[in-house]
Amino acid sequence: MDCLFCSIIKGDIPSKKVYEDDSVLAFYDINPQAPVHILIIPKEHITSAADITAANSAVVAHIFEAASKLAGEAGLSDGFRIVTNCGDSAGQSVKHLHFHLLGGRDFTWPPG
Ligand code: AMP
Ligand code: ZN
Repeated sequence: MDCLFCSIIKGDIPSKKVYEDDSVLAFYDINPQAPVHILIIPKEHITSAADITAANSAVVAHIFEAASKLAGEAGLSDGFRIVTNCGDSAGQSVKHLHFHLLGGRDFTWPPG
C-alpha cells in the first residue's frame, strides 16, 4: 500500500521526529500552520477517524497522552488545539489517521 505516513514510520521518507514509542510517532508538520505544529500518528495504518473501532481505539488514547506531554514540553500553557481532519470534505489530504497538535498562537472558533 502506498501511504506517505507509513513510509515515514518505516524511515523511507525523512521526518523531524519529536516523540516515538512502540505504537505512536510524532513529527513536525512540513507546512506548519502555527509556531508549534506537530503531527501525532498511530504506527498501525488506520485510514481516518471514521475507521476507529473498539479493536484499535487504545492507540487513540495513547496519542492523546503523547499530545498532552508534547504540549507541556512545547510550553503551550496558554492553550493549544488538537485537530483531525476526516475525509475529503474536512480536507484530509493524507489517508493515515493523524492528529494535528497546534499551538503558539490564538485560534478562531468555529474553524473554517
Ligand atoms: P491533513 O490535510 O489533515 O490530511 O494533514 C496532512 C498534513 O501532513 C498537512 O498538514 C501536511 O503539511 C503534512 N505533511 C505532508 N507531507 C509531509 C511530510 N513529508 N512531512 C511532514 N508533514 C507532512
Ligand atoms: Zn499508512
